[in-house]
Amino acid sequence: MFAVNNFMVEIDQNSIAERFMRYVQIDTQSDPQSNAQPTTEKQKDLSKLLLRELQHMGITAELDSYGYVYATIPSNSDKKNVPVICFCSHVDTAPDCSGTNVKPILHKNYNGDDIVLPDDPSQVLKITDARYLKNHVGSDIITASGNTLLGADDKGGVAVIMEAASFLINNPGLKHGEIKIVFTPDEEVGKGTAKIDMQKLNAKFGYTMDGGEAGSLEDETFSADGATIIINGVIAHPGYAKGKLVNAIKIAGEILDALPKKEWAPEVTEKKQGFVHPVRVEGIAERATIEFIVRDFDNDKLKEHGEKLRMLALNIIKKYPGVTMEFSIKEQYRNMKSILDKHPEVVAYAEEAIKRTGLKVKTESIRGGTDGSRLSYMGLPCPNLFTGMQGIHSKLEWIGVKDMAKSAETIVHLCMVWEEKSPL
Ligand SMILES: [Zn+2]
Repeated sequence: MFAVNNFMVEIDQNSIAERFMRYVQIDTQSDPQSNAQPTTEKQKDLSKLLLRELQHMGITAELDSYGYVYATIPSNSDKKNVPVICFCSHVDTAPDCSGTNVKPILHKNYNGDDIVLPDDPSQVLKITDARYLKNHVGSDIITASGNTLLGADDKGGVAVIMEAASFLINNPGLKHGEIKIVFTPDEEVGKGTAKIDMQKLNAKFGYTMDGGEAGSLEDETFSADGATIIINGVIAHPGYAKGKLVNAIKIAGEILDALPKKEWAPEVTEKKQGFVHPVRVEGIAERATIEFIVRDFDNDKLKEHGEKLRMLALNIIKKYPGVTMEFSIKEQYRNMKSILDKHPEVVAYAEEAIKRTGLKVKTESIRGGTDGSRLSYMGLPCPNLFTGMQGIHSKLEWIGVKDMAKSAETIVHLCMVWEEKSPL
């Protein structure tokens, strides 16, 4: 425990567990096929509840038609120049696994045994598979019941922000600058920042609460491109095609088969290694399209991956006279580290806040993107902080209650650190 301004920052575990379990029961699955914003109207069921709860705390908040909740906790500091900081999490859950009728189960004082989920006994959470469970023997954890995901990603983030907000409001002696909160829809389908109003948000720095193990701080994401190869074959009547027809679908297959199998693919890479990954194939004999995602932490290497893919395809295409290829690369998002390095205090203060909760800081890189990577490039430098979520997007998803409490404590400390470090 760390005492600052004579206040102990200690979040009540029962309160945050209860809050979290209330939120996960609301179905907020987003839909990658939908062009609506939000992609599913039901996400607003949670947003509306959050709006009411914020207002009930006395916090000014609003919900817009796109499903974004914006809230402001005014500064209570005498200092005039404390930067406005923002905490962000997403209300939606991943389309990979059902989010309908989530029944959270609180396992009090977890004893380390296998947990058989009651609604589908084939779903068993084991320490041998989920090593991090070890850290939670003797404390409380929450799982789903077997038929659905839990939705800790990212209702864990939502719950910790709400609990921290409540704590700040109930402890007005804790000094902080203006704090903004934003809850976004559609993060899981890549549209979490699509309709975000940066002017309304009006924050200088931000933190997404969308990370895993206690103490983890992610200041680096992949840089990401999408690549598309379109193959134009040579078409002829199949009955009289000898020596003429070249089937675009078969060439697509040849390109896919030529991709390295022991490197350069998500299934054989880890840590700082990048990859190229086919995600969709579509075609007729005349014309076939392959879509790829391309990932690396380094922008130059990302470019090289794209070029290597283009050359690999081109060398196959060249064997077939008359066949042509269209190759295009589209930027998806960029590694947030180059932005964060320009504002080292954003990460440094987060590290300080984590340490004040008594945890060790684990700096990590995300092999993916977050809303924070996009926000960083939209002018809001925004690393990602832990919430405790584990086994995300699956029926074996779980979260430790003490991790959530530490995450909320980190937010409270972070608000105080920004105030303390600001000049009078
Ligand atoms: Zn998430």
